[in-house]
Amino acid sequence: MTSAYDSNNIFARILRGELPCHRVFETPDVLAFMDIMPRAPGHTLVIPKAPARTLLDVTPASLGTLILGVQTVAAAVKTAMEADGLTIQQFNESAGGQVVFHLHFHVIPRREGQAMRPHTAQMAPADELVAHAARIRQALGGA
Ligand code: AMP
Repeated sequence: MTSAYDSNNIFARILRGELPCHRVFETPDVLAFMDIMPRAPGHTLVIPKAPARTLLDVTPASLGTLILGVQTVAAAVKTAMEADGLTIQQFNESAGGQVVFHLHFHVIPRREGQAMRPHTAQMAPADELVAHAARIRQALGGA
């Protein structure tokens, strides 16, 4: 059974500027920032600005801009982290592995032969997240 959108979830609070994030990409519709518990160095989250709990709640227009944002960010993450490949993940409801109930896509750079760390296992040091965000912003053509 699904539930309603909770406007106090962590990503809604990031969108309102109530909580900080390591921002890498932003459009009027989409925000991307570093995952604080990366499954691999450079793990980035891409979220719609419009409220949506899961993939099943998002409007077609918002999903369109979101998936284009995922592609843009994925290309930059792959370049910035010199990755061999990418894993894109998206979880729906607790049973599906979702922890934060605002729709998001995980962009995880992958190196040949390197396993991903477990989901939400360990916080990365802030300086590492700052450095990786800067590399990804640079690959996106920003400062
Ligand atoms: P999930 O809902 O299962 O797709 O996972 C939520 C993801 O959000 C996990 O990978 C967490 O490490 C990440 N996360 C939780 N809180 C924050 C935060 N404040 N900033 C960035 N990432 C977060």
